[in-house]
Amino acid sequence: MGIFNKRSVADLGEKKKDMPEGLWIKCPSCGESLYEQALAKNLRVCSHCQHHFTLSAEERIALVADEGSFEEIDAKLDSVNPLGFKDYLGKVRAYQAKTGLTEAVITGRAKIDGQPVLLAIMDCAVIVFSASGGARMHEGILSLMQMAKTSGALARHSEAKLPYVSVLTHPTTGGVTASFATLGDIILAEPKCMIGFAGPRVVKETTHSDLPPGFQTAEFMMEHGLVDTIVPRAEMRSTLSRLLLYLLPKQAAA
Ligand SMILES: [Zn+2]
Repeated sequence: MGIFNKRSVADLGEKKKDMPEGLWIKCPSCGESLYEQALAKNLRVCSHCQHHFTLSAEERIALVADEGSFEEIDAKLDSVNPLGFKDYLGKVRAYQAKTGLTEAVITGRAKIDGQPVLLAIMDCAVIVFSASGGARMHEGILSLMQMAKTSGALARHSEAKLPYVSVLTHPTTGGVTASFATLGDIILAEPKCMIGFAGPRVVKETTHSDLPPGFQTAEFMMEHGLVDTIVPRAEMRSTLSRLLLYLLPKQAAA
């Protein structure tokens, strides 16, 4: 339950501390001004254009897991500086202080409508919500190695005939897209989220060609077979619960 004692990312930052209650937020997609409290009530989805704002891990867990069921694992997992990269640990510590988190990934056991899951770790049904710029180049080969290690872990999970649902949220890019995010037995995505390996500018410059409309959006990826279905945030919990009913052995759900 460690995560619930941590400060929320949304509460941090000098500007946010000084903001009065009843703040208006401009939707980056449609430009509409949204009342912050109303936005929170609507699961941080724009009521005008359905833009899905980012969620903290804590908000994400509250969205899908049964209340009080989440138990964090590896809460004290910490980064090292294997390349002796200049100022790297200082930057890591600064971000840890800013976010109140030791790591970018929160993992733990939880239940969805009473059904046991591990969020972002293996053992029974696994659900990973991805949102990443990719592997940490500052950690060199140890970072890239995790692409193979997470893929290997998912292969063993699959050999154990256990399901893995991958949920892609904005943005899912780089080494995360090239490994565990796209290895789900079922791959879901939030509406309009960006999914890709290299960014659109790099792809355009490398291929010397114009990109098709909607390139690297969840909708484009579903049309081209990478994503199974797009799930609006308000339907995420019920969709996961229904999938678990289909995928989990009956005794596991007891
Ligand atoms: Zn909007």
